[in-house]
Amino acid sequence: MEQNINPATYREIVFFTGAGMSAESGVPTYRGKGGIWGSYSIDEYACQEAFDRNPEKVLGFHEKRRKSVLDCQPHEGHSVVAVLPNAKVVTQNIDGMHQRAGSKDVIELHGSLWRLRCQSCGFRKEDLAESYETTRCDCGDRLRPDIIWFGDMLDAVVMSKASQAIRNCDLFVSIGTSGTVWPAAGFPDLAKQSGAYCIEINPEPSGASEYDRVIVGNAGEVLPELFSES
Ligand code: NAD
Repeated sequence: MEQNINPATYREIVFFTGAGMSAESGVPTYRGKGGIWGSYSIDEYACQEAFDRNPEKVLGFHEKRRKSVLDCQPHEGHSVVAVLPNAKVVTQNIDGMHQRAGSKDVIELHGSLWRLRCQSCGFRKEDLAESYETTRCDCGDRLRPDIIWFGDMLDAVVMSKASQAIRNCDLFVSIGTSGTVWPAAGFPDLAKQSGAYCIEINPEPSGASEYDRVIVGNAGEVLPELFSES
């Protein structure tokens, strides 16, 4: 590779990831060929109104998604990110792949398939098996997937943590995101304005921001090479 990155020369690295980071693991995409929303309607499966109408149906759909993600494995690119001591991940993905690869510091902008949340008291519960252990909160209300569904507000605390991490980093690596979903799409510009060196890894570069370096390729191949010692 033209020029490898020595992570030790950076104080803090942020990996900003989107659906393309999980593509080589085989996690189904949302849109496009084979995308989930080609077969399932958002109005029936991915909004609060759908959950209020028919919680079992919505939970069943999310259990199917959990199974399909459990059938996938993190790839070498996830492992490269996971072993860097000075790295944080800011992800748009809800699939938990970074954590399964061993990443400890992961900020999930759009929530997680592996967490439930009580709509009444705000209690959150990690739930990692294929089927939900329980979908009732101790307070009596239902637990819903802790995911940002269509029409939901982003979590302000999570957004603020992500912005802070991005303002603090001196290397920002954007991987597998088309840069079209806001406000996350503004993060590459925030990193640049804050003085970070900015890299994009994507087989089809987004053209969405002024990156210092654009690497055309797949995450699972580029990351191990870019961070190799030779
Ligand atoms: P996107 O679908 O808009 O864009 C995916 C990007 O990944 C594209 O630019 C594509 O060129 C790139 N890509 C494809 N294969 C790649 C590879 N092997 N390596 C690197 N890049 C690759 O995805 P987005 O920008 O994340 O936005 C879509 C929204 O959908 C997000 O909000 C996200 O939360 C959600 N989503 C999440 C998952 C998941 O959790 N795995 C899956 C699908 C969508």
